[in-house]
Amino acid sequence: MKRSGKCPKCGSRELFHTPEVMDRGEGNVALPFAVGRTGPVHAHDYGQFELFACRRCGYAEFYVIDPGALDGGAGS
Ligand SMILES: [Zn+2]
Repeated sequence: MKRSGKCPKCGSRELFHTPEVMDRGEGNVALPFAVGRTGPVHAHDYGQFELFACRRCGYAEFYVIDPGALDGGAGS
């Protein structure tokens, strides 16, 4: 969807995009939806997601905005 500009399910080009998806952290605090978070002293989100959603059928895809930043993250 990000590259094609088209929904892979229904073919619509009416897409919604947001560079930040809200999530809820400890204490129900609003945080960006991300792969992980360093912290807690100098908290920094890494692998933050952006979202593309089809306005016709609702199909959605998440992308990590900066995949290179995942090197050395919690999963490696
Ligand atoms: Zn669709």
